[in-house]
Amino acid sequence: MSTLVEATKAQLFIGNAWRHAGDGRTFEDFNPATGQKLADVADATRDDLNAAVAAARRAFDGGKWPTMAASRRAKIIYKMAQLISERSAEIAALEVRDNGKAIATAKGELGAIVDCFEFYAGAATKNYGETMPPPLPTYLASTVREPVGVVGAIVPWNFPLLLASWKVAPALATGCTIVLKPSSVTPLTAIALGEIALEAGLPEGVLNVVTGASDPIGAWLVEHADVDKIAFTGSTATGKSVAAAAAATLKRVTLELGGKSPSVVFDDADVDAAVAGALYGVYYNAGQCCEARSRILVQSAIFDRFVGSFSEKAARLRVGDPQDPQTQIGAITVRDQFEKIRSYCDVARTEGARALFGGEAAAMEGALASGMFWSPTAFEAQSTHRIAQEEVFGPVATFTRFSDEAEAIAIANASEYGLAASVWTTNLGRANRVARAIRSGSVAINTPYAVFPGVPFGGYKQSGYGRELGMETMRLYTETKSVLTYIGEKPMNPFGV
Ligand code: NAD
Repeated sequence: MSTLVEATKAQLFIGNAWRHAGDGRTFEDFNPATGQKLADVADATRDDLNAAVAAARRAFDGGKWPTMAASRRAKIIYKMAQLISERSAEIAALEVRDNGKAIATAKGELGAIVDCFEFYAGAATKNYGETMPPPLPTYLASTVREPVGVVGAIVPWNFPLLLASWKVAPALATGCTIVLKPSSVTPLTAIALGEIALEAGLPEGVLNVVTGASDPIGAWLVEHADVDKIAFTGSTATGKSVAAAAAATLKRVTLELGGKSPSVVFDDADVDAAVAGALYGVYYNAGQCCEARSRILVQSAIFDRFVGSFSEKAARLRVGDPQDPQTQIGAITVRDQFEKIRSYCDVARTEGARALFGGEAAAMEGALASGMFWSPTAFEAQSTHRIAQEEVFGPVATFTRFSDEAEAIAIANASEYGLAASVWTTNLGRANRVARAIRSGSVAINTPYAVFPGVPFGGYKQSGYGRELGMETMRLYTETKSVLTYIGEKPMNPFGV
């Protein structure tokens, strides 16, 4: 483990063994904060992907993992949590180098990753079926929850290990086997998870990690006839193609996709708390969050005061060296994404949104000069403007005024997405009325925090389907089997022959 992907171990992890890509090819992985090369990572061929699926298939069909006592599986998953916890400083530093996020953010994620593995270690022994009232007096009827099979887990680059853990932990808890495909821009912590799995004693083939330079690996996984389920996190556009491709083999699919989530601030809110929370809600992880509350809707009476205070605090946010514990906003991870943020700021100006602050790259010095950093940015926009409708995925907020509760709800719901929302008010009735009326998978009242292990997370509308992090997630990695037993004294003879 000491190597933790320093370069030599940036290999494929298949059947509990490390191997180079079949044709020996690698791709280069860079630190987005400095432009410095981090590793040459194995670039899997289709045969490599097939080998990983075959290893997962063997571990499922004939292997001991799916049928092992749940308590034993739980101990191995718990061991993974412990190992991740012990190495959290090292893994967080690796994530920072690979992704460019601030170290404080990465450390928070490591805590959440450990919590996620611990939660699902506990869940493994609570994967209950049901007993039905007898359909006939001579019958017993019950259900058991059986693992769905081989899971293809496909994750994006914004929270690389965190989003992998949201899939790997429940898949392991239910007895599934897994092929994990990280994003090509942030593959290193997924590889580290292979090392953790090996050390925790996960049986051969239960977790496989396949890296590659381009998207076809994900598509091959989705097409593969021996994969039973795809758990995907990524953009809505890719999610649609995943759902369409998975239909060919009728795979089970869960999709965690994009968002354009609102913070709704009423004039009776604790304004200081709402400003602090809204600031975090949109700029956390440099805004590269699916659940970023990037649309800030503020009631007219407090609009100017709120925006003034928000702007003053945003100017004090520290954009800079991801390794510095004081940094609050690190690098933008992907070059295309950096350019997308720039072009959305241009679009906002062109369509008449009022620039409040930011709107430009943040200038850096020294080793960071060739990195990609964006200044916290805000526009006052109409809810119909593209900047207030489309996912920017960067540190860009829009402010929109509303007059009353009905208008706030209408604007909050005027989006193709429905992932998360925050509501800020001291009126308990209003808080809950609005929470009920907003069509999104999570609503956080008087807090920006919407994501915890044990609390289901996922989208309405085009933010996807299925939920991660909850107990109900266990259902999405299992099939229901009904078991019927005849207990009558006389043998049955339905045809009477
Ligand atoms: P992306 O959709 O481009 O890629 C996601 C993953 O899918 C990557 O591993 C990629 O290699 C793979 N992929 C690409 N094409 C594929 C295909 N045809 N078939 C199968 N796999 C394929 O997304 P991204 O740019 O890496 O991540 C940013 C997006 O992810 C944003 O839209 C963001 O909102 C979303 N996201 C959602 C959540 C959530 O929980 N809802 C969390 C984080 C990120």
